Amino acid sequence: MKIIDRLNENKIHISFEIFPPKTDAGYEKVRKAAEEIAGLRPEFISVTYGAGGGTSKNTAKIASYIKHDLHVESLAHLTCASSTKEEVHQVIENLKELGIENILALRGDIPQNTVFPSEDRYHYAYELVEEIRKSGDFCIGAACYPEGHVENEHKEDDIKYLKQKVDSGVDFLTTQMFFDNDIHYNFLYRIREAGITVPVLPGIMPITSARQMKRSCELSGTVFPRRFQAILDRFGDSPEAMEQAGIAYATDQIIDLLANGVKNIHIYSMNKPEVAAAIMRNISEIIKC
Ligand code: FAD
Repeated sequence: MKIIDRLNENKIHISFEIFPPKTDAGYEKVRKAAEEIAGLRPEFISVTYGAGGGTSKNTAKIASYIKHDLHVESLAHLTCASSTKEEVHQVIENLKELGIENILALRGDIPQNTVFPSEDRYHYAYELVEEIRKSGDFCIGAACYPEGHVENEHKEDDIKYLKQKVDSGVDFLTTQMFFDNDIHYNFLYRIREAGITVPVLPGIMPITSARQMKRSCELSGTVFPRRFQAILDRFGDSPEAMEQAGIAYATDQIIDLLANGVKNIHIYSMNKPEVAAAIMRNISEIIKC
């Protein structure tokens, strides 16, 4: 089933993201997390993609397991900067053979020990989108950044390039995490003004530890509002209290989004089924409205 067909239905859809193990030894733990999260019956589960090696191989394996064994639709992430065009092509063919119908097309981080840009690699995600479109009948998602992408000084350029990416054949967008919903509403206004009309799934990250917050900040440049900083200052030293507060904060964001007419929400569940389950419990009646 193509995810875009579900997103176009006029009802609420909740989805989750998990990440694959770095080594084969960690596979069983991730498989178990996927099974428990699938038990919450989300609309789909996305599986992130790492740079080469075991992680990228396990993305296809777990995405296939979610779809065929757990009977929940899956979305396989695919990045292009760390692989050659030929390697990317092989991954797409493999996904096709496994019956995966949905791909999140990403550039990924620029590899450190390789000449980049180079002729044998895609430089931007829009080129990967074009390649996936040519290669098969896939539903294609892509990333967007309500606070702007870290590499781009000018937010207007970001939206111009986002439009180019969507016009290359993107069916829907998923946002980078954000912790202030007003930033998301403002972003939506600006991209609609720019003529980007595809569904946008806000990405909600439940922050359940001080360490996770620090890491998220470093990776994405996301701004933490004063309200969230106060939670961290007060409860950051107690793992139990921080988890409860992080779940409550994410729930609050989700309720506000739903109350403001947003239909599709993607939750970065970080392979924590208990966090995913707690959020689903908190909104169980709300999503029926
Ligand atoms: P692009 O859309 O190519 O944009 C990258 C930068 O180039 C931006 O600054 C953009 O404005 C600029 N740009 C785009 N087109 C042009 C152009 N024609 N000319 C000049 N500049 C241009 N990373 C992983 O490694 N694995 C994952 O599984 C993963 N999943 C993610 C899921 C989501 C929802 C999000 C938001 C991010 C994810 N990432 C993942 C991180 C992502 O790979 C990085 O943020 C990466 O730096 C940018 O990827 P992109 O696909 O947005 O790139």
